[in-house]
Amino acid sequence: MRPRDLALPKSLAEPPSRLYRLLEGWRQRLMVRLAGHDWVRRESAERRIRAVLECATEGILLCNRQGDVLLANKAAALVLGETPAGLLGRNVSRRNHREVEVPDGFALKSGDNLALDGKDLQRPLEIRVATLGTGPGRQWLVYLRDVADRKQTQEQLSYLANFDSLTGLPNRVLFRDRLGQAMSRSQRTGRPMALMFLDLDRFKLVNDSLGHEAGDKLLQHVAQTLTACLRNADSVARQAEDRPFTLSRLGGDEFTIIAEAIAGSEDATLIARRMLEALNVPFKMGDDEVVVSASIGISMYPNDDVDLDTLIRHTDMAMYRSKSMGRATYSFFSDDLNAAISARLTLERGLRRAMENSEFHLHYQPKASLATNEVTGVEALIRWYCPGQGMVPPDRFISVLEDTGMILPVGAWVIRAACAQLAAWDKAGLPQLRMAVNLSARQFKHLYLASLVEDSLRENAIDPRRLDVELTESLLMEDTETNRGMLANFARMGVRLAIDDFGTGHSSLSYLKRFNIDTLKIDKSFVAAMPENTEDVAIATAVIALARSLDMSVVAEGVETQAQSDILRELGCDEIQGYLLSRPLPAADLASWLTQRLRDAEHRRLQCSEHMDAALITVELETPG
Ligand code: C2E
Ligand code: MG
Ligand code: MG
Repeated sequence: MRPRDLALPKSLAEPPSRLYRLLEGWRQRLMVRLAGHDWVRRESAERRIRAVLECATEGILLCNRQGDVLLANKAAALVLGETPAGLLGRNVSRRNHREVEVPDGFALKSGDNLALDGKDLQRPLEIRVATLGTGPGRQWLVYLRDVADRKQTQEQLSYLANFDSLTGLPNRVLFRDRLGQAMSRSQRTGRPMALMFLDLDRFKLVNDSLGHEAGDKLLQHVAQTLTACLRNADSVARQAEDRPFTLSRLGGDEFTIIAEAIAGSEDATLIARRMLEALNVPFKMGDDEVVVSASIGISMYPNDDVDLDTLIRHTDMAMYRSKSMGRATYSFFSDDLNAAISARLTLERGLRRAMENSEFHLHYQPKASLATNEVTGVEALIRWYCPGQGMVPPDRFISVLEDTGMILPVGAWVIRAACAQLAAWDKAGLPQLRMAVNLSARQFKHLYLASLVEDSLRENAIDPRRLDVELTESLLMEDTETNRGMLANFARMGVRLAIDDFGTGHSSLSYLKRFNIDTLKIDKSFVAAMPENTEDVAIATAVIALARSLDMSVVAEGVETQAQSDILRELGCDEIQGYLLSRPLPAADLASWLTQRLRDAEHRRLQCSEHMDAALITVELETPG
């Protein structure tokens, strides 16, 4: 920037004119004189004080020695329900005040109440009084604060902190507090108490299908039902107590009941049964009628000398036992349950370690065509060699992998490993096999499953039509958007879909059709008693007929005998899988088994053709000339 651009306008750049300087000098001298004048000083000070008073959110009164109001601000008027002018000259006196020490020469007192013209104000006020000066000219400065609002807010806050806003029941915080008190009472008096956890069965289904509002309404209904039920159960608490039961809601669909002063576990059983019965009465929600069931876990105190958190944990375990027993029931915590749960925890820990240490393997079980006797493909079955324990069967750990979510990484590994194995066999010159993998419902919930399958196939250059995914009937019946999308993805890729253990779950025929299922696998439980058990034969006949009409193929699982194989062939079953053919084998053994089988078949074929040649020669010889 050049200096010229910085130049000021001429009028401003020039020094002030003489007249201006003269006038400014006069103005400043006048200001100094006025400021020194008493009345100006007083008035400006008073104005400032008033401004400060009006801005204060605290009520302030200035009173003389007798308590007559000399000055009041708006906040004080508001607190006392008057106008500031209406307060002037009124008499103020304090009640129940206490002296508070302050270092600054004037005493500050605080009190709980105030009287106006001798009449007590019936409102909770916070009052502080400062004494100004001494002798007859002494004055009081009274600070007032309305604590009604604050109290209300505090009450609201404490309510929110302790009660559940949806049902009005004590929440987790208050529950823990009451439980602690109940446990000490029980310790002191020696009277037994029970802690119960009640969890609604399939509440998520109500929430998902009828909406959250309906879910909330249902929770309120449950709270009311349980409250009424416990009120009527008062007689169970033999020794009269003020509050024998505390019903709380911990969140979601989890309720807890602290039952004090009961005679023992029989009483707890009685209460649990009554609650289950009360909930079992149909409840109308709009046009729908809902019946609620619940799973209850109970632990008794002081049976076990446990602390609060352990008692809660034990009750929770008992509740889960009720869930695993098929729901709508109650269970008590016991040492057996404890042992079962610690075994389960050990299993979980073992599985986590197995993942880290690659202790999982795949075995492959062949399937063969009943028409051609040729091996068509294999099913990949997971194996876990647990150090120190040996082989743990998948039926023992698959559900644990599912519950803990570990099925996702493990299931992904199964898919990748199975595809890689198929490619390795192709490379080794084995006949082109199909590969079947089992998928859990939990894996379906993750959208990356489709890309995982697609990538595994592509990376190993495998035609998607050579892969079967084996699903359960329940997954099909769980007709969710995600499942439908995933099934469509597989169909689009060309991957074939098979229903595993067909006949053991619930299936809808329309679903089989809608989801383009390619194969039904008859469960081994129907095959086991064949051909003697005519009912099982009838079931197999029906499944095969159904598959024919819907253009699906049928595989029979668990075929162990030639007789089973024969009848299945007669019935028109396409393929068999089972010990008759081979047990599941490690990859290398499967390859040797298959090579040997091919060799045997070739040998038989050669023998057969030699036999045929010999027969022809014989025929030729015998043919007359
Ligand atoms: P599945 O898919 O129905 O597999 C067939 C089961 O029957 C296998 O049990 C197999 O060893 C057994 N089996 C085969 N032939 C015969 C026979 O002739 N007689 C008898 N009695 N049993 C036979 P396995 O390997 O113990 O697997 C049990 C289940 O575990 C499987 O049943 C499958 O549902 C599940 N599973 C296995 N591997 C996986 C996996 O990688 N992922 C998932 N999600 N599940 C798997
Ligand atoms: Mg299977
Ligand atoms: Mg099966």
